Amino acid sequence: ETRLPPPTQTRTIVVANQKGGVGKTTTAVNIAAALARGGLEVLVMDLDPQGNASTALGVDHHSGIAGTYEVLLQHQSIASVQQQSPESETLSVVPATIDLAAAEIELVPQVAREQRLKKALAAHLREHPVDYIIFDCPPSLGLLTINALVAASEILIPIQCEYYALEGVTQLMRTIQLVREELNPELDLSTILLTMFDARTKLSAQVGEQVRQHFPEQTLVTLIPRSVRLSEAPSYGTTILGYDPQSVGAKAYVKAAGEIARRGAEEPVRSARRGWPQ
Ligand code: ADP
Ligand code: MG
Repeated sequence: ETRLPPPTQTRTIVVANQKGGVGKTTTAVNIAAALARGGLEVLVMDLDPQGNASTALGVDHHSGIAGTYEVLLQHQSIASVQQQSPESETLSVVPATIDLAAAEIELVPQVAREQRLKKALAAHLREHPVDYIIFDCPPSLGLLTINALVAASEILIPIQCEYYALEGVTQLMRTIQLVREELNPELDLSTILLTMFDARTKLSAQVGEQVRQHFPEQTLVTLIPRSVRLSEAPSYGTTILGYDPQSVGAKAYVKAAGEIARRGAEEPVRSARRGWPQ
């Protein structure tokens, strides 16, 4: 395995897109696993009550297991709830259980409800520094996703290479802008990853082209192909790197993680903060 360069400071990356089924979780877990296998210390925070990232990373997350809910609503420390993933010695996960579904409502009356995760993370990082924190979000722009957008400094948007992909991005860009103005001026759309790319269709190529035109600096060179192997891995409680490391999907995610790591090692990741053309 190739060693990846560590970032100059902890990088906190939210994988967000309010659309479901675009490859958020697949991207979060496989990028995290590839970074960890490259020798970096990685923490994944699962913010989706479905717990798909927890499943894919092989950590226990049945109802009652402490995880993201306890961190957000019961002041438990991240260190006390994180679990090491069997994927790598340097990969830890804060699991999400179905109990997290209640958090979206229970957070509403809380003081500083948007800052809960940010505070918990700041306390954690003082004692347990890591290279990367990757947040997997639910397919909505509610308080769980907002907590991640406030706690992080970078956004990674996976974009599915299909027809209406760009419409969802417009709405996400508005939310990002609002979060920047009101809650987190540091937030930067640093990375776009084209997923489920089907080389046989013109449409995939067209969507890819269009995204690159709008986001030339942010869009990774590496494309994630549509591949059945990628969709099979989670049911074995593993990432594609554990399931079939020689597959095209595994190789693509390793390459994408390499691009992300090398960009972050060169300079503090600060891309142009341009808006999404209306
Ligand atoms: P999200 O987290 O955005 O809802 P997922 O990562 O769970 O999306 O992906 C949705 C579905 O598509 C899952 O069944 C997943 O296994 C599958 N999938 C994700 N990426 C790919 C891909 N590149 N090729 C084929 N299937 C994929
Ligand atoms: Mg998901």
